[in-house]
Amino acid sequence: MNVTDKDFLEIKSKVSKIIDRLIVDEAPYLQKHNFSQTIDFLEQYRQEVKSAGLYTPQISKENGGLGLNLYQLGQLYEIFGQAFFGLYIFNCQAPDAGNMEILLEHGTSDQVEQFLNPLLEGKIRSCFSMTEPDNPGSNPTLMNTTAIKDGNDYIINGHKWFTSSADGASFAIVMAITDPSNSNPYLRASQFIVPTNTPGFQIVRNISVMGDEGDGWMSHAEVKYTHCRVPSSFLLGKEGQGFSIAQERLGPGRIHHCMRWIGISERAFHLMCQHATSRKINANQTLADQQITQSWIADSKVEINAARLLVLDAAKKIDHQGAKEAKIEISMIKFFVANVLQKVLDRAIQLHGALGMTDDTPLALWYRHERAARIYDGPDEVHKLRVAREILKQYS
Ligand SMILES: Cc1cc2nc3c(=O)[nH]c(=O)nc-3n(C[C@H](O)[C@H](O)[C@H](O)COP(=O)(O)OP(=O)(O)OC[C@H]3O[C@@H](n4cnc5c(N)ncnc54)[C@H](O)[C@@H]3O)c2cc1C
Repeated sequence: MNVTDKDFLEIKSKVSKIIDRLIVDEAPYLQKHNFSQTIDFLEQYRQEVKSAGLYTPQISKENGGLGLNLYQLGQLYEIFGQAFFGLYIFNCQAPDAGNMEILLEHGTSDQVEQFLNPLLEGKIRSCFSMTEPDNPGSNPTLMNTTAIKDGNDYIINGHKWFTSSADGASFAIVMAITDPSNSNPYLRASQFIVPTNTPGFQIVRNISVMGDEGDGWMSHAEVKYTHCRVPSSFLLGKEGQGFSIAQERLGPGRIHHCMRWIGISERAFHLMCQHATSRKINANQTLADQQITQSWIADSKVEINAARLLVLDAAKKIDHQGAKEAKIEISMIKFFVANVLQKVLDRAIQLHGALGMTDDTPLALWYRHERAARIYDGPDEVHKLRVAREILKQYS
C-alpha cells in the first residue's frame, strides 16, 4: 500500500529533526575521521532511528521498511545526505542498500536467513566486488575473475579493487565469469555471495584515496580471491544473470546517490551563505556584498534546484514505468548532479578560504570523498555517450 502524502510529511519531519541533531553531534567525529572510533556513537543513533520506526526506509513494509516509492524515498535521501553519517544511521548506506535489494529480489530462503536478515537488522555489513585493477570498470564485460564449478561448489579466483567497505564486512557479492565462451558477453558473468572468512579471501589493503586510507565502512579495498570455494547455493539468481542483476541494482541506486549529492550540495550552499554573510572583508562589507559571491550564490541555487527537479522526474518515471524506460533520465542525472555537486563544493571551499581546506567544516572531507562521484557507477563520459546515442538513434 502506498504511503499517503500526509504520512510522508510526518516521516520527513521526524527524519529532519534527527538529521539536524546528527549534523551537530557528528562534527567532532568527522575531524577524527576514523570509522572504528565512531561505531558506538552511530549505534546510539541507530537505536533511536529503530525506536522511531524509521530504520531501513528504502525497504518494503513487509520486510520491515517504510514502503515508500522512489519519489518519496529520494526526498529522504536529500535530507540524509546533509549529514555525513545520515544514510548510515538509517541503514540505507551504500553498498549495503544495493546488496539488500539484490538479496530481496534474488535471494533463496537460506540466503535471506543467513545474509539478508542480519543486514536488514544492521548486525553485519557487506560489500560489492566487481571492478578490477587490470580491466576497465567502464566496460565490466572485460573481467578476469572466474568461478569454476567443482562438484557442488564453485571455485573463485580473481583480483578486485575499489571494493568499498570490504574492511569489516561479513560477506562480499562478487561478480565472476562463469561462461567465458558465451557469444553474448552480457551472459558470461554471475554473482556469488562470498563470506569474508572464506579461505582465500584476502584484503590486500585499504587503498589510499585522495590521501585517505580510511577504515571499516569508510574505506575502499583491494581484494584477492585465491581458490575461494563457495557452495553452489551461494550463487545469486541463475548462472549468467550477473549483469542483469547488477543493472537492476544501479537504477534506484543512482536516484539514491543523486539525491544524497543534492543534500550535500544544499548543506555546502548553506555553509557558503552563512560564511558569506559573516565574514567581514573590510569595516563595512562582508563577502556577501561582493558581486562575485552573489553570482556563486545564484548559480549554485539554480543548479541545485534544477538537479533536484531532474532527479525527482527520473524517480517518478522509474516508479511509473520502470528503470528500463527511464534509462536516459538515469544517465542524465548521474553526470549532471555529480558535476553540480563538484561545482557547489568547490565554490563553498573557495569562499571559506583557508578554513575551507581544513576539517573544521565538512567541506574538505566531502570534496575528497565525492570527487569520485563523477567516476563510480559509470564515469561522466560513459553516461553522456549513452544519452547522446539514444537521442541520435531517433535521427538516424
Ligand atoms: C570511491 C570509489 C568507490 C567505488 N566503489 C566500488 C565498489 O564498491 N565496487 C566496485 O565493484 N567498484 C567500485 N568502484 C569502481 C568504479 O565503479 C569504477 O572506477 C568505474 O566503473 C570506472 O572504471 P575504471 O576506474 O576502471 O575506469 P576506466 O574504465 O579505466 O575509465 C577511465 C576513464 O576513461 C574514460 N572512459 C572510459 N570509458 C569511456 C568511453 N567509452 N568513452 C569515453 N571515455 C571513457 C572516463 O573518463 C573514465 O573515467 C568505485 C570507485 C571509486 C572511485
